[in-house]
Amino acid sequence: MKDTSTICAISTAPGVGGIAVIRLSGPKAFDIANAVCDVDTHSLKANSSVFARVLKDGTLIDETMLSKFAKPKSFTGEDVIEIACHGSAYIQSTLIDMLLDAGCELAGPGEFTMRAYLNGKMDLSQAEAVADLIASESASAHKMAMHQMRGGFSKDLQELRDKLIHFASLIELELDFSEEDVEFADRDDLKDHVDTVINYVRKLLESFSLGNVLKNGIPVAIVGRPNAGKSTLLNALLNDDRAIVSDIAGTTRDTIEERFVMGGYNFRLIDTAGIRQSEDAIEKIGIERTFKSIKEASIVLYLYDVCATSQEEVDKDLEEISEDKKLVVIANKTDLSSKAKLNTNHIPLSAKNKDGLDELTQALKAACDDIVGSQNNTIVSNMRHVEALKLALKDLKQVRAGLENNITGDFLAMDIRSSLNHLGSITGTVTTDDLLSNIFSRFCIGK
Ligand code: GDP
Repeated sequence: MKDTSTICAISTAPGVGGIAVIRLSGPKAFDIANAVCDVDTHSLKANSSVFARVLKDGTLIDETMLSKFAKPKSFTGEDVIEIACHGSAYIQSTLIDMLLDAGCELAGPGEFTMRAYLNGKMDLSQAEAVADLIASESASAHKMAMHQMRGGFSKDLQELRDKLIHFASLIELELDFSEEDVEFADRDDLKDHVDTVINYVRKLLESFSLGNVLKNGIPVAIVGRPNAGKSTLLNALLNDDRAIVSDIAGTTRDTIEERFVMGGYNFRLIDTAGIRQSEDAIEKIGIERTFKSIKEASIVLYLYDVCATSQEEVDKDLEEISEDKKLVVIANKTDLSSKAKLNTNHIPLSAKNKDGLDELTQALKAACDDIVGSQNNTIVSNMRHVEALKLALKDLKQVRAGLENNITGDFLAMDIRSSLNHLGSITGTVTTDDLLSNIFSRFCIGK
């Protein structure tokens, strides 16, 4: 699978910028750089940068900084040159044309990272974490991607898998001596180990719901009676006039969803139609959706109008919401009634005047810290890993049942091998060309 071509691509974001970085990787990277620049990259020390002029037929195209990385100590594990040129579209495209003329090929999406994987610089789950790192929008998503890129659960998984391989090999060896009725693999030890792997896989699968929300945004439903000020609060949090605010009860008939980043977390704020009985058919659908949003949310912000809602009504609403969710209760419109007696657990707010927003955002952040704090660092956020883990779990359960029922070694070995394949596909120990092209085609060019 190893490629002997030298590839190039613009690695910075598309468009015009102060600086653009063009990356070359492959066996001819130094020769090709020499053909377009006025420096001798062969005599340049590895891991160093030098001022270099790019010249085309004697015409100066740009003055750049050129960096050299020699194999295997580079991102891809190959010889790499990075040219930081001025970010004009003309300079970028001219330089790329010159590199292609000098023998480079244009890199495909994710090809630099794919080469890093193929050259053993990282395993597949680490390569996928590179894409997540680039896409991370909040501190928590960044931390999760960085943890996985640095190795994450790969090492633990690899160790568990190695031990399973050992058992599979022993059982397969027994098959060679089938006449003699020998047992090289201790069945009790195997049972213990399979249980350990099953527990570990289960733990990883359980972490996915958190991994998913950290990556794609923690869903927060804003609920309350019509006119409580839900849309006003959404706008206040977003600093925007996204939701229509009006004083006719029931204006937010559908759900509105917005994303925002605060306190290191990425949120999906969902403004709902409100909770109350309604005869209006469209509003009824909206109310049903509200309850669906509550179900899907990790955090519920319940908001009530301090002047228009009694304590009994608030309690009744809270009872209806009573799902297993983090709940933040907000007493809104405090600007209208300074005398209203508030429950000390409720956050006083004037969404209209943006008074009390700090306390609310603190509470929101604390709720997130609570959710994340209950998990250790091993979090799965990739759907492909989840699918592989589920398939592995199915096989492992089969192995476990087989051991209970004393099934023959050949069947046992088959199930173990199947689970090994699924576990191995996560880190890329077991791959197919299709799988690789599927994964890397989702990367951007230049990465
Ligand atoms: P929703 O139906 O819960 O989404 O409520 P809206 O956000 O549409 O607000 C209903 C009405 O209450 C609007 O006229 C808002 O301007 C008003 N409102 C919202 N928050 C406050 C507040 O903190 N103080 C005051 N005085 N009015 C508010």
